[in-house]
Amino acid sequence: MSDCVFCMIASGEIPSAHVYADDDVVAFDDIAPQAPVHTLIVPRVHYSSIADEVPDGILLALLRAVPAVAEAKGVASSGYRVIMNTGDDAGQTVHHLHVHVIGGRPLGEGMVRPAERE
Ligand code: AMP
Ligand code: ZN
Repeated sequence: MSDCVFCMIASGEIPSAHVYADDDVVAFDDIAPQAPVHTLIVPRVHYSSIADEVPDGILLALLRAVPAVAEAKGVASSGYRVIMNTGDDAGQTVHHLHVHVIGGRPLGEGMVRPAERE
């Protein structure tokens, strides 16, 4: 999508430092981090959310990228949270499918949207 910020980041139209990248997905740090580590993983192809018609291979690539991102960000052994906000009640603000990988400090309990924590 031409007006989608994550499409522009994935294509390189908006420059970003890639934490991880492969044929299917790109990972980059969140612009408004909610913890010392807050990285987003997005598919190169636009899907609006997990509720979209997302091919199995893309879903697999997104999840396979999670431990690679955790390793790259230094939280593989300390732990991290993986979040996919979907739709209005979750507060999804960017309608390009993405996975949040959050860590680097104790995150507490509960199913909390990153932007509303602390
Ligand atoms: P969500 O609320 O799940 O849709 O999360 C969208 C996330 O994208 C938020 O945490 C934003 O801070 C982040 N974000 C928005 N624009 C950018 C950008 N240009 N670069 C990096 N992260 C962004
Ligand atoms: Zn997009």
